[in-house]
Amino acid sequence: MSDIASTTLDGQVAVVTIDSPPVNTMTREVRAGLKSAFEALRGNREIQAIVLTCAGRTFLSGGDMREFDTGVQEPGYHEVLRLIEDSPVPVVAALHGTVMGGGVETALACHHRIALDSTRLGLPEITLGIIPGAGGTQRMPRLIGLEPALDMMLSGKPLTAQQAREVGLVDEVVGGELLPAAIACARRLIAQGRGPRRTRERSIAGAERADAIIAARRALAATTMRNRNSPNVLLDAAAASVRLPFDEGIAYERRLSIEVEKAVEGRAYRHLFFGERELRKIPGIGPEVQGRTVARVGIVGTGTMGGGIAMCFANAGIPVTIVDTSQANLDRGLTTIRRNYERSVTRGSLKAEAMAQRILLIKGSLDFADLGAADLIVEAVFENLALKKEIFAKLDAVAKPGAVLGTNTSTLDIDEIAAVTARPQDVIGLHFFSPAHVMQLLEIVRAKATAADVLMTALDVARTIKKVGVVAKVCYGFIGNRMMDPYGREAERCVMEGATPEQVDAALEGFGMAMGILAVYDMAGIDVGYLTRKERAHLLPKDPTFYRPTALLTERGWLGQKTGRGYYRYDNPDRRRTPDPESIAMFRAEAARLGVPQRQPSAQEIVERCLVAMVNEGARILEEGVALRASDIDIVYTSGYGFPRYRGGPMFHADTVGLGLIRDRILEFQRTLDPQYWQVSPLLDRLAREGRTFAQWQAEQARSL
Ligand code: NAD
Repeated sequence: MSDIASTTLDGQVAVVTIDSPPVNTMTREVRAGLKSAFEALRGNREIQAIVLTCAGRTFLSGGDMREFDTGVQEPGYHEVLRLIEDSPVPVVAALHGTVMGGGVETALACHHRIALDSTRLGLPEITLGIIPGAGGTQRMPRLIGLEPALDMMLSGKPLTAQQAREVGLVDEVVGGELLPAAIACARRLIAQGRGPRRTRERSIAGAERADAIIAARRALAATTMRNRNSPNVLLDAAAASVRLPFDEGIAYERRLSIEVEKAVEGRAYRHLFFGERELRKIPGIGPEVQGRTVARVGIVGTGTMGGGIAMCFANAGIPVTIVDTSQANLDRGLTTIRRNYERSVTRGSLKAEAMAQRILLIKGSLDFADLGAADLIVEAVFENLALKKEIFAKLDAVAKPGAVLGTNTSTLDIDEIAAVTARPQDVIGLHFFSPAHVMQLLEIVRAKATAADVLMTALDVARTIKKVGVVAKVCYGFIGNRMMDPYGREAERCVMEGATPEQVDAALEGFGMAMGILAVYDMAGIDVGYLTRKERAHLLPKDPTFYRPTALLTERGWLGQKTGRGYYRYDNPDRRRTPDPESIAMFRAEAARLGVPQRQPSAQEIVERCLVAMVNEGARILEEGVALRASDIDIVYTSGYGFPRYRGGPMFHADTVGLGLIRDRILEFQRTLDPQYWQVSPLLDRLAREGRTFAQWQAEQARSL
């Protein structure tokens, strides 16, 4: 008997309990514990039924992610699950907590399933670019039917216990004590003389329509999960559940499962998954540094960002005081907040009472003194350095000692802002993205004087408001917008060379970007970038073609969606983007005036130029220490800039393409396009010469700390 698996007897019922904190992950040790427990029970003729249960927070929560890289150690999943399914007496799975992947697959191998009403059950593998590999693709269709099984496996979304009962995944849902109910269920099965009810022996509901069902799902996946391979592989495995005898189906699933784990897509998702775990590791800051408590928040500015940020905190149950300059501005801001909430209520994603509670948590004020009780104050006024300095001087006067003072600036120097206060150690950048209550990303910008516990507070706050907090250092544009600069430069240059906005965006969207960059400009407002470039003109290249299309549009007052036209027109009833021949003609005329040769870059060239420029800047960001890790950049891009997760982020993507190839492209563009922009970053050059990757560089950096 192991510490992990223990067996107790309750009359004729054996209770096997797994206890492997914190979440009963199906490690090798857990599988070995299950194996020895079920092997021992096989020989015991007294036992008439078995209950499988887990101690702690949850039933088996899922597979061991570390084994993706090491390979599954003995005993494997199939061997153990087969042993459970082959039990000569009924096995009841007693389910509670968050049962995912391998946990659900184990429950499928049991003969009955009983769940606490708060249980959630899912097969989320597809969200990691892989497929269920412990029999899930073969047993789930047999247990609940082909279509419901595909719904679960292709969405990756967990079911509530009630939903699981409705589809037949769970036999019984209980509200009170789980274990006594499971033992009672086992006793009933004994009394009724029921033997084991093996999932693998069931026939599949929907099997006769399998070809049509699978074909329809394939067609849907081609549009909703574009460029991804794992949904197709999942469908191959599910089709095999109908086509092949169980054991052959399992062997086929296993082969496919190993294939997708090794493929780029699976590695990309794992890279992001493990990367997110690194985000809170900051060199030089040990576990002894604790964040400060944030129980009350103040916000300055009820505009687009201030309002959204207020919602983030109210959604987490934290009271917010929000200050603006006039009652009219406050009213406008608070009305927008209310409207946003009302939209969620109409959509059904928020209950009316929850909305009322959240709105009650947000108080407007015209008096900075009302921010005195806040533990954290986030400034979100206009992007103007003099104004921000004035606000921070005021905050310094009213904020309580130890309050964290955050600025939402996108472009300004946070060191300069901090310097106007007598407490620069408490000042930090909190760069939210628009719409702030929706976007996942929060760039946390560490200024020169920012204290370690203030940085940890910001990371804690990110977690509290369910954002992905990525630490950056002060520089123009931080991580995300700084890399957008060369990306946008190339996209606009392609327009000058004769590509239409549609061709540029279609190429980028074909690669997998959620939205082409020119459509993004239209959405954010064409003038935003133009105005910041105007202010920084003395620092920018003296090149008349540099960001010229955006400048032309701004000069014409075609500022994007807010004016009904920009790179595209938005004057049709559904406000979808449509090509604008007039703006295209304007670009052509300007290209002629400036003597830009017309060469119609291909979709492949557009994507390569944009991505390679972005990656090269990413390498500079790493060298300068603006980002701590290549994976941090990838998380910024996948969570805030619509970069496809299945490609793992720009730096991971560059690693998979090969840094040597990326460098060769830059050298080629240096020759064929414009040498002033195409200079290989020293880090990229070095890694390319050494045949190494950003991931290897990151691992080395981590070791040397
Ligand atoms: P906005 O114009 O929508 O809102 C600014 C608000 O600040 C207005 O309500 C204004 O009345 C208020 N304000 C101005 N002066 C004030 C003062 N002295 N005291 C109190 N309130 C004052 O601007 P926004 O788009 O919300 O941007 C705010 C900040 O967020 C800027 O620094 C911007 O760079 C940054 N940001 C914006 C976005 C975006 O997409 N809009 C994204 C990230 C960061």
